[in-house]
Amino acid sequence: MISRRNALLVGAAGVVVAGTGGVFLATREKPEPASPPSVNPQGRMLWRNWSGIESAYPAVRSAPKTEAQVAQTLKTAAAPIRPVGAGHSFTGLVPTSGTLMTLDQVAGIDRWEGDEAVVWTGTRLGALGPALAARGRAMPNLPDINKQSLGGAIGTGTHGTGTAFKAIHGDITALRLATVGGEILDCDATHNTDIFNAARVSLGGLGVITQVRLKTAPNPRLHRHVWLEPLEQTLAQAETRWAKHRNYEFYAVPFTDLAANITHDETTLPATPPGASSDDAFLEALKQLRNLLGFSTPLRKAAAKALLGSTKPEEAVGEGWKLLSTERPVRFNELEFHLPLQTPLTALKEVVAALETHRKDVFFPIEARRIAGDDAWLSPFNGGPRGSVAVHCHYKDDYKFLFELIQPIFLAHGGRPHWGKLHSLKAPQLSRLYPDWAAFQDVRRRLDPQGKMLNSYLRELFGA
Ligand SMILES: Cc1cc2nc3c(=O)[nH]c(=O)nc-3n(C[C@H](O)[C@H](O)[C@H](O)COP(=O)(O)OP(=O)(O)OC[C@H]3O[C@@H](n4cnc5c(N)ncnc54)[C@H](O)[C@@H]3O)c2cc1C
Repeated sequence: MISRRNALLVGAAGVVVAGTGGVFLATREKPEPASPPSVNPQGRMLWRNWSGIESAYPAVRSAPKTEAQVAQTLKTAAAPIRPVGAGHSFTGLVPTSGTLMTLDQVAGIDRWEGDEAVVWTGTRLGALGPALAARGRAMPNLPDINKQSLGGAIGTGTHGTGTAFKAIHGDITALRLATVGGEILDCDATHNTDIFNAARVSLGGLGVITQVRLKTAPNPRLHRHVWLEPLEQTLAQAETRWAKHRNYEFYAVPFTDLAANITHDETTLPATPPGASSDDAFLEALKQLRNLLGFSTPLRKAAAKALLGSTKPEEAVGEGWKLLSTERPVRFNELEFHLPLQTPLTALKEVVAALETHRKDVFFPIEARRIAGDDAWLSPFNGGPRGSVAVHCHYKDDYKFLFELIQPIFLAHGGRPHWGKLHSLKAPQLSRLYPDWAAFQDVRRRLDPQGKMLNSYLRELFGA
């Protein structure tokens, strides 16, 4: 996230902590959240998502090796049947007491059609990078991490940042959908068009997408530049930077009046050796400032400026698939809304003000990105480009404020939630945000009349 800090930072924060009472820090450090048992009384093994807030004990775990096995399992397996990728969604999309189907073995590049790669959806984004690069190609853009499966990423509208770039599903030109009827449907802009429009972002609610045809781009060498500056300066420059840079995003750091800026631009400079990420050191310093000085926002801001204000910029050069996604060693929970282009910066300022007034326990930076529009029916970017703002909180911290304090701000600014991240919207509100909501539900009912693909979370979400 802000891989621009060295261990000295934590050391410096530690000096402040020690100077003003380390006991205070020790008493404010939160305990690990309780873990569900790894096996339930029926002997079923635990499944958990990445952040740990969603869990389930599926009766059946299915790991088909072929598309035909996927279709056969969908036809016969115990409901609810839930496909799972890397389990990196924060919402209850995956948990099931019925059948959990991993696509891990339905993976890899099947073939090339010109510059489009036909890829099995169990493929992880991190594995796709080198496979495409071997042919001099790349995914046009990437999200913050590359642990996701391709099926999971398109299932929730996963995206990176950059005005020229669509979310990943926006670069899909055809797909194959296995249904609970045991069929495999070929869908694109001219065949099964309604299913193509519904399936590209479908939360695993229509069946299992086994294969997609993906546009690729030349594999670019990118120059990354990361720097901290006053938040006001970032807000004043953000639009210019989105217009100027291939990829631009920034992180507003609450309780510091600072923002971390990240740009990626094409370059012919030679690649630099990969450096170790120090995001965790930076986050640890912010956490310690919270633990120690959370009682006084002016003191916390002054200490943050003293510790972080002189942070040196970071530069790196490398292939896009190696630079655009990074590691996230510190676990968190997250809410992200996608807003019409006029509102993200205003909404972000309101979010920072709300946190600094009401939630002094929050220390994670708030991320702002830009994504081009597409035409998938449940794409948050359907109808035009959007600006995304994401609020994170440490996995040990209470995240309910995301629904109570933050979500209303984004809704008031016309936001649509990220399908894989926390929100509390259900069918009545969601249907008002998506012009093609009813058409999507018609396709869903036609493909799965008995709702075999629906767990309780999706039933409520879809109003089924
Ligand atoms: C640390 C972290 C960083 C993140 N960064 C970003 C980011 O930069 N940008 C962004 O947009 N999001 C981001 N996310 C969110 C993440 O990209 C999405 O939640 C994504 O869906 C996770 O992919 P997955 O493979 O883990 O899918 P899962 O969470 O396992 O599944 C997601 C959905 O897809 C469905 N599904 C999976 N495979 C298939 C298939 N083959 N056919 C049909 N349905 C399927 C599942 O049933 C489920 O509904 C991040 C999440 C984490 C934890």
